[in-house]
Amino acid sequence: MSEMIQKLRAAQNLTDSELKTLLETDVYDEELRLAADAVRREHYGTDVYIRGLIEFTNYCKNDCYYCGIRRSNRCAERYRLTKEEILECCEEGYALGFRTFVLQGGEDPYYTDERICDIVSAIRGRYPDCAITLSIGEKSHDSYKSYFEAGANRYLLRHETANAEHYSRLHPSELTFENRRKCLFDLKEIGYQVGAGFMVGSPFQTTEHLIADLRFLQELSPDMIGIGPFLSHKDTPFSDYPNGELKLVLRLLGILRLMHPQVLLPATTALGTMHPQGRELGLRTGANVVMPNLSPKSVREKYMLYDNKISTGEESAQSVRNLSAQVQAAGYRVVTARGDAKSYRKS
Ligand code: SAH
Repeated sequence: MSEMIQKLRAAQNLTDSELKTLLETDVYDEELRLAADAVRREHYGTDVYIRGLIEFTNYCKNDCYYCGIRRSNRCAERYRLTKEEILECCEEGYALGFRTFVLQGGEDPYYTDERICDIVSAIRGRYPDCAITLSIGEKSHDSYKSYFEAGANRYLLRHETANAEHYSRLHPSELTFENRRKCLFDLKEIGYQVGAGFMVGSPFQTTEHLIADLRFLQELSPDMIGIGPFLSHKDTPFSDYPNGELKLVLRLLGILRLMHPQVLLPATTALGTMHPQGRELGLRTGANVVMPNLSPKSVREKYMLYDNKISTGEESAQSVRNLSAQVQAAGYRVVTARGDAKSYRKS
């Protein structure tokens, strides 16, 4: 094995200039993959955790330039799920073996803190053995705390990019990296298991930005790291920008597995969208989580963050079966445990 990959595996770190080399060449890719797979097997065997994703609203008050459900997209047909509909998704998911429910949505003011807490505590009351994950964007410390007290235990909030100037080229001025960062540290302090992450190949991204992302993740030390390619959406300001590259996403998954041996690393929907075997390739390069869609079929194609998003035409049960088959074909096994990060201290 090359000294570079040996060092990354042993020290879980490299210098900036070594990272730059590693990120900009494909010569290490195969040994990086092998090392990442070896490390994931050391900690997780062949286990792949599943998270049931419930996309409960596509209304959004934000206007992120990359995102298909941004408020300025007049073509997006908007929807909201009722509490009862969300509970039905959970019921179906529980029967299918899910023990984590992820409630994701746009930043929709209809769902006041009171409504979110009401939904969370209803799920908590019915499924005391399950993890409840929220992914509803930037909120105040007090709001995050109230959701936690209502029974939520995990929160996904990608940092998107750790370079403030790059952040400002992906978002309108009311959104700042500084606040994103504060939100992530607030969530940790409250006691959530936290997921951060970034898009690979977003417009204007450089190798230096990616190194900043890796450094930020070392500082935050999240329980989960979600990365996937940037994929353009036709009705956004970034419609003409090229999609992220598969090779670079896989390279980053490998690096992240070696830097964070115990982290939860999803093979994301965006990765599955960019290549028919994208998720299998991700799993073979250190990823250990998949997040099948539990949203009702009728709203699937309305939660369109980017063009051609997969699994929009399937029933939940079908999308779970397909994904389990893909996981098996890659040489791994879906498990129905809650799947808290191994290093983790509390739920
Ligand atoms: N409103 C929530 C959920 C956003 S959707 C929040 O802000 O956290 C979840 C993730 O999808 C985003 O964090 C972003 O990284 C990703 N995403 C959005 N648009 C995308 C695109 N065009 N290509 C790839 N990923 C995208």
